[in-house]
Amino acid sequence: MDARRAATIPASGKIAGDAVGVDRRGRPMRDLRISITDRCNFRCTYCMPKTVFGRDYPFLPREKLLSFEEIARIARIFVAQGISKIRLTGGEPLLRRNIERLIEMLASIPGLELTLTTNGSLLSKKARSLRDAGLQRVTVSLDALDDPTFRKMNDVDFPVAQVLEGIAAAEAAGLAPIKINMVVKRGTNDHAILPMARYFRAAGANAGHIVRFIEYMDVGSSNGWKLDEVMPSAEVVNLISAEFPLIASDPNYLGEVAERWRYRDGGGEIGVISSVTQAFCANCTRVRLSTDGSLYTCLFAQRGHDLRGLLRGGQSDAVIGDALAALWSRRSDNYSELRTAQTTELSTELKKIEMSYIGG
Ligand code: SAM
Ligand code: SF4
Ligand code: SF4
Repeated sequence: MDARRAATIPASGKIAGDAVGVDRRGRPMRDLRISITDRCNFRCTYCMPKTVFGRDYPFLPREKLLSFEEIARIARIFVAQGISKIRLTGGEPLLRRNIERLIEMLASIPGLELTLTTNGSLLSKKARSLRDAGLQRVTVSLDALDDPTFRKMNDVDFPVAQVLEGIAAAEAAGLAPIKINMVVKRGTNDHAILPMARYFRAAGANAGHIVRFIEYMDVGSSNGWKLDEVMPSAEVVNLISAEFPLIASDPNYLGEVAERWRYRDGGGEIGVISSVTQAFCANCTRVRLSTDGSLYTCLFAQRGHDLRGLLRGGQSDAVIGDALAALWSRRSDNYSELRTAQTTELSTELKKIEMSYIGG
């Protein structure tokens, strides 16, 4: 079965007794991630391994993708339901043609924080036009600074220098402070942690960017995840702290995914994202919209809810808004907490949705 098939949402969207605003665990809906393409020019081994995402992989046909008009409409409806931040992602979002037009449309929604996650490969060409269109910030994924390791992880032989140029272009265009995401896979790129910390520390030439070290997660069903390849964030913090002492910092806001650590000498900060060793489901305010318009209330969900059907079926904004509120009020997801309790069995038993489709 294609796990991307979504459940149909009844037009009224309502179920008697639904409480609007928070889910069953009392969490509000605040952040929306929209995957605007399921395609990517990289084949990161932890996300889109070549063995699965090869030449004949059935990527979505154009007519199944939400159009920019549909994305902008649904974004407004989400904002009316409490969303205050939208992150465009994918796949590689900068591969979607004329993305600047979509950004302009979203940037015109009042009070919305608008950001994007990219592998940085096209950023040196696009940073200025993205900023001009109204993008506020970017997060760039970068798994190592040394070329052999970086090329091995992206698995398409892409050079690190071009991503660094992209980061510099984003800074020059005013998209800073830039967050740099590094997924740490033990035995593959853990040797790249310290060089990364040194390079982006405030004392260096590349000051002001915040590196976030991410635990390798069991997203999707194709990356062959094993627990022993996860390097716990506590180890990352200890490793960096031995060279540059770190102090724990308070979160910027409720539901912040990264745990913040400041350099004791004033050299800026790093973040660690520990979804495997320290589940943060209790404060999870995130919702995801897949490339073809299905809504997922958890990164590890097995089934989405078909919003595209409602958008194309002539339903009013009010009806769709009610459907969103109803879906959220029924949400009780806490996959990472369960995985922590049951470790790998849960991960291998479930058929999960791929991150490139659901939006990282
Ligand atoms: N292509 C863009 C990029 O790489 O930044 C956006 C999409 S990507 C799916 C979003 C983020 O998910 C990236 O920072 C990536 O490193 C992260 N990611 C993908 N697979 C992961 C995994 N198995 N564990 C942890 N993070 C992962
Ligand atoms: Fe592409 Fe991003 Fe996944 Fe890497 S992490 S394969 S760049 S979508
Ligand atoms: Fe949120 Fe699901 Fe991740 Fe828990 S596992 S933090 S509920 S997305």
